[in-house]
Amino acid sequence: PNSSYQNPQSAYRRHRDAGGRNHCENKRSRPNQQQQHHHHHQSGPAPNLSTRKELYERDFPVYKQPVEIGCFSLDSERRFFNDGRQMRYYVEPERNPNFDLRDGYKDRYIKRDGNVKEKLDHILRWILANKSKLCSKGAAASPCALDFDFVTWRGHLTKLLTTPYEMREGWLLAVTRFKGTLYISEVETEAARREQENRTERHEEMMYWGYKFEQYTCADDVHSLPDPGGVVNTNEAFCTVVQTRLADHRLLFSGEVDCRDKDPKAPAPPACYVELKTSAEICTPKQRSNFHRFKLLKWWAQSFLPGVPRVVAGFKDDEGVVVNVDTFPISKISQLIKNEHNCWKPTVCMNFCCDFLSFVKQIAIEDHPSVVYLFSSEPRRDVTFSVHRDSQYSFLPHWFVEEMSSRPDAHHQP
Ligand code: GDP
Ligand code: MG
Repeated sequence: PNSSYQNPQSAYRRHRDAGGRNHCENKRSRPNQQQQHHHHHQSGPAPNLSTRKELYERDFPVYKQPVEIGCFSLDSERRFFNDGRQMRYYVEPERNPNFDLRDGYKDRYIKRDGNVKEKLDHILRWILANKSKLCSKGAAASPCALDFDFVTWRGHLTKLLTTPYEMREGWLLAVTRFKGTLYISEVETEAARREQENRTERHEEMMYWGYKFEQYTCADDVHSLPDPGGVVNTNEAFCTVVQTRLADHRLLFSGEVDCRDKDPKAPAPPACYVELKTSAEICTPKQRSNFHRFKLLKWWAQSFLPGVPRVVAGFKDDEGVVVNVDTFPISKISQLIKNEHNCWKPTVCMNFCCDFLSFVKQIAIEDHPSVVYLFSSEPRRDVTFSVHRDSQYSFLPHWFVEEMSSRPDAHHQP
């Protein structure tokens, strides 16, 4: 039971794993005093959710091996395609490649327009494109109901996983219950908007460096090589859609994938996927400790969720030159951080996420496409919520609501 803790990768449980206990069951079968007193604060009429990490140090919850159920691509103009045309292939660089990440900034850089808020639109488009295989049909003429409790982006779940350790940034998550499924979509906080507006030119360029590293290490085809002379266009994306279960929460989420192993004998997705990162060169014990405590937490959470097994990191100097490249298997990260005093724990991340999802199920009761339950988190504070009807926060588009409400054959009617 506790071994999943040693190796979070082994925490993926298969369907019939009898050892799989989860806290949601524990809470009912052996309630724990600490939880009863501090877990859900009863301050006034609205219950809140604590983010204190001590409350989440329990057995690792059941997290089923994520299964890829589809993928989609966004092209250079951010147009959606229900296929893997934007998939790229990993080409292993030398250990000390001296990639110049500044090359091409800004003359070969096309940046996605960050002012366009896409919300869940691409995932919703994917759901409609795959409606026939996703919808469970009850009565003959019944509309589409999904066999999922939650639909969201992987990035939103990453933020949930890291919440008990987040000391700088809060988040806002909008939740709508529609035909029994809870859709979670992020809302930009006032603080994040201000930070974006006040970005320095240096920060702007450093954001480019991450994409440039991808260009140095990814090829468009199995047999071709990377093209560092090409244009970096951040509109382009390949996204995987995975299905999994966290305790009793059935999840469907999508995440952007950087590239895959090009070996034809590589395992099936998502096990063949590779996440690419850049990070500042590590020169001192203090820098190493900060890397373990903060960077590896984010990297682990992001890749563990969809079952991506490795991160390839390019360590860069202040001039934007990649001085060395290292591979971090996700299953080894919890070992790596064990020497850090007071470090983050995978079980805390997963248990907090699990409890947050239970909290959402309990709060977001009204099933209506324009009702939004807005959950808010600030560092060192409980998660709170507010309810909004037909407001600026509604995020399910009409085209999605209508298509999901129509009978399966509606389009063929005269
Ligand atoms: P991540 O884990 O934070 O990278 O996010 P996901 O993989 O869940 O990606 C969600 C969607 O948001 C994808 O279509 C990405 O192309 C897009 N995306 C990723 N990062 C950003 C960002 O910083 N800003 C915006 N506006 N979109 C992003
Ligand atoms: Mg990346």
